[in-house]
Amino acid sequence: MQRKPALKAFKYRIYPTDAQVMFFAKTFGCCRFVWNKMLDEKLQAYKKKERIPRIIPAKYKEEFPFLKEVDGLALCNVQLQLEKAFKDYFRNRKQFKLPKFKKKRDKQSNTTNNTHNSIRLDFEKGLLYLPKLREGVKIELHRTFDGKIKSVTVSRTNDGKYYASILVETENPRNKVVEPKSKACGIDLGLEHFATVTNDFGSCKVEHPKYLLKAEERLRRLQRVLSRKQKSSKNREKARLRLAKQHAYITNARNDFLHKLSKAIIDENQVVVVEDINVKGLLKTKLAKSVADSGWARFLTYLKYKAEWYGRTFIRADRFFPSSKLCHRCGYKNEDLALHDRTWCCPACSETHDRDVNASINLYFVGLGRPEVTPVEQALVDDRSSYGLPKKPSCDETGSSTEKD
Ligand SMILES: [Zn+2]
Repeated sequence: MQRKPALKAFKYRIYPTDAQVMFFAKTFGCCRFVWNKMLDEKLQAYKKKERIPRIIPAKYKEEFPFLKEVDGLALCNVQLQLEKAFKDYFRNRKQFKLPKFKKKRDKQSNTTNNTHNSIRLDFEKGLLYLPKLREGVKIELHRTFDGKIKSVTVSRTNDGKYYASILVETENPRNKVVEPKSKACGIDLGLEHFATVTNDFGSCKVEHPKYLLKAEERLRRLQRVLSRKQKSSKNREKARLRLAKQHAYITNARNDFLHKLSKAIIDENQVVVVEDINVKGLLKTKLAKSVADSGWARFLTYLKYKAEWYGRTFIRADRFFPSSKLCHRCGYKNEDLALHDRTWCCPACSETHDRDVNASINLYFVGLGRPEVTPVEQALVDDRSSYGLPKKPSCDETGSSTEKD
């Protein structure tokens, strides 16, 4: 069955030139003007208990010719947004208030639609082309997408930053679901390696990407440079900018890595089991920095939503499930295992274990539904029961509040 295309928004920082800033300011101003004009007329009718008129922006163009200078579609979108606001209000007055007048100091934005390629994106040059703007706007394309551009919303934040949110029509992910090759997979998250993964084909260790380690080294160097610069000097400002850029680069590069890894895992396996690491607890310890940096919390979030998209099962083993301490071969529980023990020998069956591989095998067994090696009663929080139903609050305890970049 073919599903409808999915709409996805991609938000990018843009760097308009002075002339483009002027153009955006003009568009924001005209949109605000049209919004307030229409709203005023509609509210007057509403107060007089008359039928609320349908107004199109062209109505004002004769009286206020400056409206002709901006993108007409942006003004049309104002009309649609205002009509929706009234519709929402009449549908549900408890939840929605009457629309309000817009002020200049509010966050500014306008939306324009793509008609006959009026919006284009040059991925190589990093330029965004918008209607009525002859030259492209510089855009930071930290990620690419595949699909047709439907519309673009340009916004300006209170501190003067500009963003473009691009709405793209992409193929519904469920249309290209691949058959999983492996029944289950267990993932042990670590510090030395990013993750150790076991599935039907065996175990493998996923290293932290080298480019990330290098980028982090550079970040630390830039931090040292900054701390040596004199307060409020020009060179300090330059160093601060370089540091901010490096931070942004690392955030994006890590996100990209996490997206690709989680997609590959979801593609290959039907059931995915991870240990429910206590991120909050770990953040209080010395390991804090590596935990925050390695993006575990985000990785789990990605796995979870991709599993939902592609019809896979995502399970978080209870954080008290002793995945590291259990011998995967005989089920013996090694109570003496310390955090720094990288390998251990099972006294019951004399098998030597790599700590991380053993843990991921135990999680893999959980995915296969082999309770005989999980002697702890009710050791699992199983997302299967909440699949497609409202989420159980217990499943999300590790929360995204721990994400710090
Ligand atoms: Zn054993």
